[in-house]
Amino acid sequence: MIPPEPLPSRRALRAERERADADAAATPGAEPSARTAAQAVSAGAAAGALADGTRRARVARPRTRLLVIAAAAILLIAAVAAAVALGGRGGSTTADATQQTRVDPVPAVTSLPVPAQSAATVVAAGCDDPAVSTALAQGSDADVIAALGGATAFRDLVATGSAPCVNLADPVREWVVVNKQRPLSPLEWEPDTVVAPADMQRTVDGRLRPAAADALTALVAAAQAEGVGAIGLNSAFRSFDSQTRTYNGYVNSLGRESADLQSARPGFSEHQTGLATDVAACDGGCGAIESFGGTAQGAWVAANAWRFGFIVRYEDGYTAITGYQAEPWHLRYIGPELAQVYHDGGFHTLEDFFGLPPAPDYVD
Ligand SMILES: [Zn+2]
Repeated sequence: MIPPEPLPSRRALRAERERADADAAATPGAEPSARTAAQAVSAGAAAGALADGTRRARVARPRTRLLVIAAAAILLIAAVAAAVALGGRGGSTTADATQQTRVDPVPAVTSLPVPAQSAATVVAAGCDDPAVSTALAQGSDADVIAALGGATAFRDLVATGSAPCVNLADPVREWVVVNKQRPLSPLEWEPDTVVAPADMQRTVDGRLRPAAADALTALVAAAQAEGVGAIGLNSAFRSFDSQTRTYNGYVNSLGRESADLQSARPGFSEHQTGLATDVAACDGGCGAIESFGGTAQGAWVAANAWRFGFIVRYEDGYTAITGYQAEPWHLRYIGPELAQVYHDGGFHTLEDFFGLPPAPDYVD
């Protein structure tokens, strides 16, 4: 029989425990191993972190690409927008430039030395135009006026002395100007044909050149149609001999000086051209020509004669130019084209109309 091993005492147990604790404190392996484990855990964590970072990096790369792409897209969009903006401005600039090119040439052209084109140059060319020569040789007065560019151009050219082919002294022409300084040539000149205007009352056997006669008939009819009343013919064409008698009658009754204000000397009268007529109001019989200005017909004629190719040749207030006292009854036919320009231009004398000097008195 083996005797049982006695149980260790409390003291022995305490000593044993203290010895074991001392050994444990003296052995470095325990904590290093623990540190290693901890390090291993840290390393694993780090590795995991690294791996996670790597994953993140791998994940981040596509995101970065997206960001880069997005940024590039934004930059591209911005660039495109800028380009569009610039392009728009460029377009505007182009448009401006286009506008400038449209506008610039004007000042550019006007800034260029432009040789002055004198009226004489234009006129000489007009008179040299074969159409003008042909019209002067074979055509009517209206044809000549048309060939020179119309009544306004005709008037302008003549008034500026730029139409030497237009002879204001030619009594055949409806634009002839006869005054105290512009006698007919020859003094006894008279028209080939004068006719009695149709459809009107008359106090004498007045006759006019056909165109003037027709125009007077139209004027009288219009006055009647427009409710003004009757207009009659008092006197029209007067030959040199007839004018001699008329003028001498005035001289005998008024004296030469007063006669010259009211009646032309033979060879100096528009009546001798067959283009002038004295008219009277003829309501219930024709009145005197001297009272015509105060009648409704006189007022109407002053305002409307131009419509028929006539002008009131001697207006009140222009004696210093025409040489005659006012004669509201004395109508001069110059043709509808020139009469309209005369009216539209506000002219009061044929002298001013054609740029001629005043003719208040005879030369001698
Ligand atoms: Zn007269």
